[in-house]
Amino acid sequence: KSGFVAVVGRPNVGKSTLMNRLVGEKVAIMSPKPQTTRHNIRGIINNENSQMIVIDTPGLHKPASKLGDYMVQSALNTLQDADAILYLVEPEKRIGPGDRYIMELLEKTETPIILVINKIDMSNSAELEICFQQYDETGLFQSIIPISATLGENINQLIRTIEAYL
Ligand code: GDP
Ligand code: MG
Repeated sequence: KSGFVAVVGRPNVGKSTLMNRLVGEKVAIMSPKPQTTRHNIRGIINNENSQMIVIDTPGLHKPASKLGDYMVQSALNTLQDADAILYLVEPEKRIGPGDRYIMELLEKTETPIILVINKIDMSNSAELEICFQQYDETGLFQSIIPISATLGENINQLIRTIEAYL
């Protein structure tokens, strides 16, 4: 199995930390004339049963200009082309405006979305449960996986979940 995995989320939720943990091999050359989405390729995850190409998805923030509009459209194209989306959040008590804005955009794609609640090492199980339920109620997510990118907790479960969508 192989496919493209797009990673999205607010600044500081741990996207780079997770990608660095997952990606074992950097991509040197894809094509002499790359497609737009290929510019965002961060690396390949090689597993026993699968190979996943990880794409960074910057630009999912409120556009303040025409250039911002263009970046949002470009990000939406990336999401639409991916086989699965990893949407990273932190275990917060309330879904904030930054995440609400991203979720409005995520609603526009038909790509399966895996919600990744990162930094579970920073919260207790009651807090995590509150966070889990708020996101679950939106009905936007095919799966919800709590992880700690820095401690490496639940990373194998995350990979198995992604594989189901490739
Ligand atoms: P990005 O902006 O989404 O790429 O976030 P980064 O990967 O740069 O991480 C932002 C900060 O969160 C850094 O200080 C990380 O060390 C920290 N961080 C990332 N993952 C975890 C985690 O699982 N637990 C904790 N406690 N901190 C984390
Ligand atoms: Mg980053």
